[in-house]
Amino acid sequence: MTAHPSESKDTMQGIPVSPGIIIGKAHLVDRSRVKILYQYLIDEKLVSGEVERFEKAIRMTEQQLQTLKNKMPENVKEHSFILDSHLMILKDSMLRESTMRRIKEEKINAEWALKKSFHEIRKIFAQIDDEYIRNRIQDVESVSERILRNLSGEAQENLAEIRERVIIVAHDLSPADTTELNISKVMGFITDVGGQTSHTAIMAQALEIPAVVGLESATARISDGDLLIVDGSTGEVVINPDDAEIIRYQERQLQQKKYKSSIARISHLPAETPDGYRISIKANIEFLEEVTAVRDHGAEGIGLYRTEFLYLRSKGLPTEEELFNDYREVAEIMAPEPVTIRTLDLGGDKFTSDLQIANEMNPAMGLRAIRLCLREPAIFKSQLRAILRASTFGRVQLMFPMISGLQEVLQAKEMLSTIRKELDSEGLLYDENMPVGVMIEIPSAVTISDLLSRHVDFFSIGTNDLIQYALAIDRVNEHVAYMYQPFHPAILRMIQQTVQEGKKAGIKVSLCGEMAGDPLCIPILLALGLDELSMTARSIPLVKNIVRAIPLAQAQQDLERVIQLSTAKEVRDYLLTRMKKMIPELGEKGFFPA
Ligand code: PEP
Ligand code: MG
Repeated sequence: MTAHPSESKDTMQGIPVSPGIIIGKAHLVDRSRVKILYQYLIDEKLVSGEVERFEKAIRMTEQQLQTLKNKMPENVKEHSFILDSHLMILKDSMLRESTMRRIKEEKINAEWALKKSFHEIRKIFAQIDDEYIRNRIQDVESVSERILRNLSGEAQENLAEIRERVIIVAHDLSPADTTELNISKVMGFITDVGGQTSHTAIMAQALEIPAVVGLESATARISDGDLLIVDGSTGEVVINPDDAEIIRYQERQLQQKKYKSSIARISHLPAETPDGYRISIKANIEFLEEVTAVRDHGAEGIGLYRTEFLYLRSKGLPTEEELFNDYREVAEIMAPEPVTIRTLDLGGDKFTSDLQIANEMNPAMGLRAIRLCLREPAIFKSQLRAILRASTFGRVQLMFPMISGLQEVLQAKEMLSTIRKELDSEGLLYDENMPVGVMIEIPSAVTISDLLSRHVDFFSIGTNDLIQYALAIDRVNEHVAYMYQPFHPAILRMIQQTVQEGKKAGIKVSLCGEMAGDPLCIPILLALGLDELSMTARSIPLVKNIVRAIPLAQAQQDLERVIQLSTAKEVRDYLLTRMKKMIPELGEKGFFPA
């Protein structure tokens, strides 16, 4: 998503990343890039001194990050993995050793060498299809900036010392900066850069401070002391508002507060419609560390554990033991609730150092996910062994991604049964009844869902990819982002067909794409008969609230109407009007005042 600076002089539109309305004074902080003043060649004799200077800056950076981690407020301690990941980046060979090598081989000063290493890493990250992982370059940048500051001795404003109730306005804030914010003083923040999946956004949500990012020119248009209204639910920022506007936002602020406390109360109740239809609400996770938040938000299990990150995090491929320990811990913490572990969805588009896959012209359609796993049986085997072994420690389900035809399912299942025999002969335990399902995220899989349903225990519809492939829009191309239409009649029909085939075969059908956490989609997904919705944990209270407010019979009537409409816009407009009637708290633009 990109920001669209507003026409009007006094309002700006950015990307909303942490909900809530705040009204307060602007405090500009300078987090602009460290300027490298000197780039120079060094004499052979000075090389070891330059390496030592770089190592000293690394040590200082490590100490600073460690101190930040130790001082982290209790309520965000669970997110200390962000600082851990910065510490890991600091130690990673891509940044540290390649900089040292450059100093030694190219005989250039440390700042220049570091800058070159960072640019090389940035090029690699730019090729990554997955937005979340691609955005992790922000973490690498933040660590590099910290090292640079330590090299240059340049001081920066200590955010922890801000003692006024202000709204921070910055070009960028690193996740580490965010942890420094004195949350009893800082009302929220806005930045020029950043995206929805940045760690800074994750931190703002964890701290529950409203934030808007990607405003592009906030630091240029706002002066210190300006009065600001920031709406973290819509991405609107009003600079020096008039009285009428302030009153309007204050009213909304009050409404939101009431609404938020009312939905928090019900997040641990079942997701059941007023006429008694029960749907299971689960969470999507990427890391083991997210599991606590999953429980806190009232999830009834994990519907999608994206397992790529362990492969991207570790140096080289993770061992079976590492994978096993991770899966076992997730299964144990979540037990007796189920955990659906998806096998590796890595490919030409998602980068890992030890899997050298050729650059592909069209990575989304290249050698990825199950295709890659079947091509590289050793990698697949070690993951399958780890999942099977973890299955005795809780309720584990296994799921294959990117299935395009039955052949892939049969091959993958055959591999699974070979591994079961292997484990038997080694005397290792596993759950013999572990359910095995597939993701339905390629249109061909929808078309043959009747055939697939005879060979698997469940379906999980991945609408992020299904929309990409069905509507031929690159998921990561911002120029066609406007065509990402969950309400396109083709998508609704595909979901309908998959659910119908699942029901005929007596297997459960889940949906784990972004659609599952989109408030407007909920009534339609209920009416389509999905058994389970899996989403980012934060969305759970709101989604449960919607489910508990809308009778299934009413949602079914709406579905009958919606399925006859011809365009995504008609569907969206219709649902918005209906939703406003059923849940009047719905905001003007379709955003809930959460
Ligand atoms: C999907 O494609 O909808 C999905 C849930 O998987 P991912 O976003 O990891 O591709
Ligand atoms: Mg997918």
